[in-house]
Amino acid sequence: MSRPSVARRLALRAPAPATVLVARISGARHLVAAHAIDVGATILELDGVVAATPDRYSVQIGRDQHLAPPADAGDDDDAYFWRYLNHACEPNAAFSFGASDDDGDDTAPVRLVAIRPIRRGGEITFDYTTTEWDMSVPFPCGCARCLAQPAKARVVRGYKHLTETERRRISAHVAPHLRQLARERSREAQRAAP
Ligand SMILES: [Zn+2]
Repeated sequence: MSRPSVARRLALRAPAPATVLVARISGARHLVAAHAIDVGATILELDGVVAATPDRYSVQIGRDQHLAPPADAGDDDDAYFWRYLNHACEPNAAFSFGASDDDGDDTAPVRLVAIRPIRRGGEITFDYTTTEWDMSVPFPCGCARCLAQPAKARVVRGYKHLTETERRRISAHVAPHLRQLARERSREAQRAAP
């Protein structure tokens, strides 16, 4: 068996060029673009372990599925940099869900896709209410839009708590499991009505 050349071995080990980096701003971590990203481009694929209940850092990927980094993942493990994605009410990225099974649980990889052009160094954000039904830790929104209009600043709680108008505003990017949960809720409400 011939040994690969040094150059070949280096090429095999070289990681793919990073699309995202983590920046620390005032002690908090932010996910930023390593290079300019076009609309429609895949930024990353979600990877992690699935739990039945949400936690502070999980992303809901199915009706009863919440993806979180493994407990032993280090802060600098780039496979789980998605944990540093911050919420914004007018984000530049959204999750794209593949096929789902009968329970509304997603079976294909979940990808984060750019929905606005993102400049190199720009923070990458998504709207948490497009994936989360009922968040374990609601918080007052600190996105640029809410900071600019404190009187209209939102508390981010999850899709369950949005008004119909708010749901319509984000409908292009809402995860299929949230639509399913909303349908179930409205059927339950109809059954309960006198
Ligand atoms: Zn906001």
